[in-house]
Amino acid sequence: MNATAPTLPIYLDYAATTPVDARVAEVMCRYLTVDQLFANPASRSHMLGWQAEQVVEQARRQVADVLHADPREIVWTSGATEADNLALTGFMRANQARGRHLVTSIIEHKAVVDTAKALEREGFEVTWLTPQRDGRIQPGQLREAMREDTVLVSLMAVNNELGSINDIAALAAVAHEHGAAFHSDAAQAVGRIELDVEALGVDLMSLSGHKAYGPKGVGALYVKRHPDIRLEALIHGGGHERGMRSGTLPTHQIAGMGEAFALIQNEGLEDQARISALRDRMLQGLADLPGVHANTAVDVAVPNILNLAFADIDGESLLMALRDIAISTGSACNSASVDPSYVLLGIKTPRALALASLRFSFGRFTTEAEIDHTLTVLRHALQGLRSTASQT
Ligand SMILES: *Cc1c(COP(=O)(O)O)cnc(C)c1O
Repeated sequence: MNATAPTLPIYLDYAATTPVDARVAEVMCRYLTVDQLFANPASRSHMLGWQAEQVVEQARRQVADVLHADPREIVWTSGATEADNLALTGFMRANQARGRHLVTSIIEHKAVVDTAKALEREGFEVTWLTPQRDGRIQPGQLREAMREDTVLVSLMAVNNELGSINDIAALAAVAHEHGAAFHSDAAQAVGRIELDVEALGVDLMSLSGHKAYGPKGVGALYVKRHPDIRLEALIHGGGHERGMRSGTLPTHQIAGMGEAFALIQNEGLEDQARISALRDRMLQGLADLPGVHANTAVDVAVPNILNLAFADIDGESLLMALRDIAISTGSACNSASVDPSYVLLGIKTPRALALASLRFSFGRFTTEAEIDHTLTVLRHALQGLRSTASQT
């Protein structure tokens, strides 16, 4: 037995979700049972309610600190999906007297793409930008799309399939030059790039707990405190979160997200340096193999996401050969057919290559031994599949 052999399966799908850090899970467990602080943070009539509220407010500060924001600018949601819905629909509806035009891109997360499509059905107009081959939107492209009646621009900070990093400061500046507000989905950016909302100039920013070692089912929308940044609520009820999002706050989820963001604040950069070395190890290990293309433009991408295409390989067979490694494909299975990823098609990856693409994403708990094992299995699989292909 090889003492350094990693436990299988190997998890290389951190962009889909991250495990909850054990330190975060420990914090979350304090706010659930009868002998703990389980009270409703909105209960004003007893001490237990106030204490729960303090827990929520501390977490709000922890999340705000990562963004260099004011805690009053953080609105809790059920995740980045809801934050994206609230940002786009809430802002467009609240500002329709000023204009009904939204600008976004074709490679945004579905939470933005599908919300923008729903807005089109409501009568709003959307301009869909096509990214460059490196997965980024150029400020000049955005400038050309801006109109008199543009009220909002929504462009993601880091793309979830490619890892490409948009120049948010430059894009937000273009939006502002034309009197529009700027929203960014930063679910994949937390702990990966510096996110100072003041320096970036964003007005609205979506966040998720579970992409940053926190729990699933909690997220937040940063809403800049400014008279021009008004939202119409989508969820009506008790008027929580200053009327922007009603619903009893889930203390344990929120405390978990706060702790996860505090850990990111302290350890994020260290994590990224280590992960960057792992990504380079992976690339080096494949360098001598023919037909391996990086869909990710690594020079302008976060180090934890590496999307690779394997020429002349059947994607399904490759995935099968890699069944001990948890990764994502460059395709979406519908009941009738396999469709290539709209993001890969969006950067003009040929259909066949998109179907033979895999996204490897690394994280806090990824080890060198896991990368080495993945390389061994991958090299073996590619050699096997290529020789079968050449025989037929
Ligand atoms: C995961 C993800 C979302 C959705 O976040 P949830 O918290 O799961 O709703 C939105 N945008 C991006 C870029 C993501 O990666």
